[in-house]
Amino acid sequence: MNNMFARCPRKKVGRAVLSAPRLLGMDPDRCFLDNSSGALRTARPAFRRYLPRLLRFFGLSSLAICGLCLCASASEPRKIVFVAGPPSHGPAQHEHRAGCLLLKSCLDKVPGYSSVVYSNGWPSDSAAFDGASTIVLYMDGGPGHPALQDDRLQKLDALMKKGVGLACIHYATEPTKEKGEKEFLDWIGGAFEINWSVNPHWDAEFKTLPDHLITHGVKPFTILDEWYFHIRFPEDMKGVTAILSAVPPASTMNREDGTHSGNPAMREAVKKHEPQCVAWARERPDGGRGFGFTGGHFHHNWGNEDFRKLVLNAIVWTAKGNVPPDGLESTVTAEQLEQNLDPKGGKK
Ligand SMILES: [Zn+2]
Repeated sequence: MNNMFARCPRKKVGRAVLSAPRLLGMDPDRCFLDNSSGALRTARPAFRRYLPRLLRFFGLSSLAICGLCLCASASEPRKIVFVAGPPSHGPAQHEHRAGCLLLKSCLDKVPGYSSVVYSNGWPSDSAAFDGASTIVLYMDGGPGHPALQDDRLQKLDALMKKGVGLACIHYATEPTKEKGEKEFLDWIGGAFEINWSVNPHWDAEFKTLPDHLITHGVKPFTILDEWYFHIRFPEDMKGVTAILSAVPPASTMNREDGTHSGNPAMREAVKKHEPQCVAWARERPDGGRGFGFTGGHFHHNWGNEDFRKLVLNAIVWTAKGNVPPDGLESTVTAEQLEQNLDPKGGKK
């Protein structure tokens, strides 16, 4: 377009023309004489002329760079860090290591994930959690909970603030009221609290499941476990989604009151047939995700398709991964269930 305009050097135009730009409020140095119309026009500065082109170029470049970044992150597997506590309880119970290895073997068959299992307690490697998308804790809790020792709560908190997920299985859902409960409520949304929560063995009948990514492909199921219930949750379950709920039978009140065995509040709830949430999900305001699951006492329960699928879905969900419409498919054989058990002796 600009070649339609001939620059109007002052020398070649008369005084009247020279003064015209100023009279018209135009900058004489940027004035052009439009040959076709004889009108004076003001030229756009070079950067203004080329701005649209530059914007288009940088816009496309940015898109290309973003695309490359997305491709790079899509091809980089999400890291899942399992921490299995030391051996505990009788044979085939609290099989932290065998359970984590089993879940890892299932996740290893799903493209896009890379899992690592640290056994026998907290990893000594200070870089263990570097790059983790989520952390799975399967360990004994209470005052000896490995996550409560030293400055681990602070270190975990720093990871949570970065958006790292956290899944706590069975006894790992129990910090202490004095130490860890506040953090656990923030990170995963619930916690076993002594003299409030209880740990009886019972057949939980999960008749309905909520519509959530964690329940994808999971069918209603019934299974015996040491399902902790009357868990400490925020008031009105604020920020927490109940994933598995069931009505505990009267037999869960058979024991005397005690830190883990019974208390007036739980008895009241059981008498009223209140459904009890035994697995839950939390999406933190900053986007991080947490999951609590109170089953997992009996190792062989990992052989149950729905039980296992729900936990695998949840782990992937806390890693902000993709849970397929039918959930994560996996196969576990009877032989696999006997592998990696801690050497405890006695009958399995
Ligand atoms: Zn247990």
